[in-house]
Amino acid sequence: MTAPAVRMRDIHKRFGAVHANKGVNLDVAAGTVHGIVGENGAGKSTLMSILYGFYQADEGSIEVDGRVVRIRDSREAMAVGIGMVHQHFMLVDTMTALDNVLLGAEPDWRLGAARTALRERLNALMEQTGLRVRLDAAVEDLPVGERQRLEILKALVRGARVLILDEPTAVLTPDETTALFAALRGLRERGTTLLLITHKLKEIMSLCDRVTVMRGGEVVMERDIAQTSVDDLAQAMVGRRVATGRRVPVAAGSGNEVGGVARLDLPDSVPSRHPAPLMQAEGLRWCDELGVARLDGVSLSLRPGEIVGVAGVSGNGQTELLDVLSGLKAPQAGTLNVDGQRFLPDDWITPSRARELRVAHVPEDRLHRALVLPFAAWESAALGYQHWTRYGRWAWMKRGAMQQATVQMMETYDVRPRNPELRSSKFSGGNQQKLVLAREAMAEPGVLLVGQPTRGVDIGAIEFIHARLRAHRDAGGAVLVVSSELDEILALSDRVLVMNAGRVAGELPIEDCHEAALGRLMGGAVH
Ligand code: ADP
Ligand code: MG
Repeated sequence: MTAPAVRMRDIHKRFGAVHANKGVNLDVAAGTVHGIVGENGAGKSTLMSILYGFYQADEGSIEVDGRVVRIRDSREAMAVGIGMVHQHFMLVDTMTALDNVLLGAEPDWRLGAARTALRERLNALMEQTGLRVRLDAAVEDLPVGERQRLEILKALVRGARVLILDEPTAVLTPDETTALFAALRGLRERGTTLLLITHKLKEIMSLCDRVTVMRGGEVVMERDIAQTSVDDLAQAMVGRRVATGRRVPVAAGSGNEVGGVARLDLPDSVPSRHPAPLMQAEGLRWCDELGVARLDGVSLSLRPGEIVGVAGVSGNGQTELLDVLSGLKAPQAGTLNVDGQRFLPDDWITPSRARELRVAHVPEDRLHRALVLPFAAWESAALGYQHWTRYGRWAWMKRGAMQQATVQMMETYDVRPRNPELRSSKFSGGNQQKLVLAREAMAEPGVLLVGQPTRGVDIGAIEFIHARLRAHRDAGGAVLVVSSELDEILALSDRVLVMNAGRVAGELPIEDCHEAALGRLMGGAVH
């Protein structure tokens, strides 16, 4: 039997009190695609960073093609044929694609003749792999998918035989993902070994030959793909059974399809069968400091009892849309109707006015906008609602009431640990998100605007958060969900808007949302 391309033995790594890798063993057969999955904090990136020489293991050994190696930095990793495509590309924007490949290469490559030779090698490589990049374009002018191809070419041209990809599809449209996977399959044919980190189990199933599941710093499962399923993987990741099936769209008000989750008790004043939209926006236009229209004539309405999903590759106006609807930004043109009130650009809705009109907002960037990290959980839980008379008239009364309310939120939303005195920063991503959602939902909103509801959230908490959003809808509220995860949009929405270049490229009822149709709209095709 031939030696594995990569063998990691009994790898331990500690960061202070955190034991991030606890005796991890990993064998990756040459010429295969090997997936690594696990919840946030499982230790995947740590393990890959050790393989790439970014961290040193405290204990354990690494073998490449049967030989024990020491990898102390990325140069040494490259020297034994290991390359990495990072989640955030390590490219210099103002330089051309070709110069980026030259950067950090062997000094003699920078000479004119070597430059020509490199160009030829890259051209040949592009021909063989189908990974096309315009070598003379500045990186800043390249779309994301092309930058990613450049990163891959850069690793390959330097002799990578093992390529580590960290969440490579997070930034891609479905079409780009399909193209990338085709190219990766081609690389495997040519004998390249691929290590794929992803939290998208469908990708693991479609591309990988074998998969390793990590939990709490340990390997909890390793299987051939043929011997496993999405449900097995999900269960191994969280250590219990979770529902991963796609939701069959149900009529509003038909009850909660996720067992064990109580419906939100909204007061009677929320119209449960009100025909009029709870929120309606017309012709929103918002330009940034450079005069670029980030929102360019966006109209939408949110009706009681529906979840509207906003899909799109990130950066196509989704963030600005949430900011404008929640009052964080005033548009240059457009109107907004909420609760019988009409807003025009020169007197736009403000965040506090929005709260009064029962429009709640769970921002995408919750770390910076939704929580004050050094504050205790109960202080973050009251943010934006401190003035509420329900918290009492005097500071000391409010403090007690807020703490009590936080304990209540933590119970209802299963926030762990249940400690209102703990600093906001000490909770995991999933628990921070549950806390923000609890705060916004407790205000009994009619409209809930949610950005990236489950980004950085582990799979157990995703299920919970989705159930709460559906419960809000089923109780007669309206939910606008912006997410760059197509699966999430498909799982939650009754209706989907696709944004491209600041416009609504198309609107589809959930029944018509095939990935191909959505992908075309995300790529800019007009519906
Ligand atoms: P994953 O990639 O599976 O999400 P990581 O390998 O990034 O997980 O993290 C594993 C654990 O190690 C986490 O608890 C994380 O907080 C911790 N950790 C990772 N890198 C560092 C670091 N540089 N310093 C301190 N703790 C770290
Ligand atoms: Mg990671």
